[in-house]
Amino acid sequence: MGRTTRTRIVVLGGSFGGLTAAHELRRLLPREQREITLISRDRSFVFIPSLPWVAMGHQTMDDISFDLDSSLSSKGIEFVPGEATAVDTQARTVAVGGKEIEYDFLVVATGHRSANEAVPGLGPFDGPGHSLMSPPETEEAAEAWKRFLDDPGPMVIGSAPGASCLGPAYEFAFEVDHALRRRNARHLVPITFVTPEPVLGHFGVGGMGRARQFLEGEFEERDIPYHTSAAVSKITDSSVELADGHSFESCYSLIIPPLAGARVVTESPGLGNPKGFVPVDDYYRHTEFDNVYAVGVTVATSPVDQPPVPVNFPKTGHMTVQMAKAAARSIAADIRGGEHAAPRPLFVRCVMDLGDRAAHMMADPVRPPRNRASMSVGRRWLWAKRAYARYFLSNMRSGRTWLP
Ligand SMILES: Cc1cc2nc3c(=O)[nH]c(=O)nc-3n(C[C@H](O)[C@H](O)[C@H](O)COP(=O)(O)OP(=O)(O)OC[C@H]3O[C@@H](n4cnc5c(N)ncnc54)[C@H](O)[C@@H]3O)c2cc1C
Repeated sequence: MGRTTRTRIVVLGGSFGGLTAAHELRRLLPREQREITLISRDRSFVFIPSLPWVAMGHQTMDDISFDLDSSLSSKGIEFVPGEATAVDTQARTVAVGGKEIEYDFLVVATGHRSANEAVPGLGPFDGPGHSLMSPPETEEAAEAWKRFLDDPGPMVIGSAPGASCLGPAYEFAFEVDHALRRRNARHLVPITFVTPEPVLGHFGVGGMGRARQFLEGEFEERDIPYHTSAAVSKITDSSVELADGHSFESCYSLIIPPLAGARVVTESPGLGNPKGFVPVDDYYRHTEFDNVYAVGVTVATSPVDQPPVPVNFPKTGHMTVQMAKAAARSIAADIRGGEHAAPRPLFVRCVMDLGDRAAHMMADPVRPPRNRASMSVGRRWLWAKRAYARYFLSNMRSGRTWLP
């Protein structure tokens, strides 16, 4: 699509997907002819994978975030703070703060909404449970953790049926175990782990290398009883209940919820499916609208298998950055009139904090069968995870979108 006038590209969302897409588009397209605008409800980019460290009191929200406006303005990208309420795919406009912003190309990267309504008691703002799924929820979890340390008791940690972001539940369980041992208080806190996964380490991707064997051994060694294919059905102030009748005493429950798409997607006719996820092709282009792309958690995906209790396919930050870079390349090709680069299947790389060490896991492609899957454990991965968080933040702030 060759154009003589300025092409207007609007990016919705300022996290892994939106910020990567905006910076990558700016790198690929000259400033004179392309206007890039990023709309975000949040004024900061937050390195979400570090939220468990905030919940444990090791870091503050300021340590893991930066201001979007200064990052974007230095690259000539306009920042519009505010909550988009509707996308009109016919008029090609986004409604935000009483204004209609026109676009030629739109990238939707609005992430998730925690579907806390799925299980009574999922919290923190809808029920007594705690959560790590967003900065405000994590700050609440951190305050509750401080209070819990003064008056410890049983804990239940895990994920609800249909969850897709399962890694943080494991990380939190290991970090809690480690923190309590260091205080000589582990004997006061029976920890139970519950997960909808058919086996530990399934992660919604059918397992990763020897993750199952490793996690089973680790939980056994740390005296953390675990229940797989567990369907959490209710959380109260003092218990976590399963659909099969099991009930566990708990005075601090952290259960990862299933996710839904952002409200702006559900409330914009034709943009998403009923759960609020956006259907895309292999290039992350909307299946109906050629000029609309979607990346990250907002993308509709199918589960890799059908276990007895549903587990959904995860979209990690690492995968989100791959999607955003691919979508930016496709938009640049649409504008310049070139061919789309052949799609590369997503791969995943992540480092799980175990408290005293960390586990590096890699699966390529993420959906089995795979060419490669590996796992390695050691203290060096904990240092690597800490260093990478700082490195990623500094790269993103200055518009570099390199990915290991
Ligand atoms: C506790 C935790 C730990 C994690 N650990 C890892 C890890 O170790 N490695 C890894 O790769 N991934 C990890 N992830 C996953 C990773 O954080 C997500 O994949 C990533 O945040 C997805 O990015 P996104 O841009 O799709 O959406 P999000 O990060 O959810 O961001 C959505 C953006 O859209 C904006 N937005 C939403 N609605 C609107 C609206 N209506 N108008 C304007 N703006 C809007 C929001 O303000 C936000 O900027 C973790 C996730 C959690 C919760």
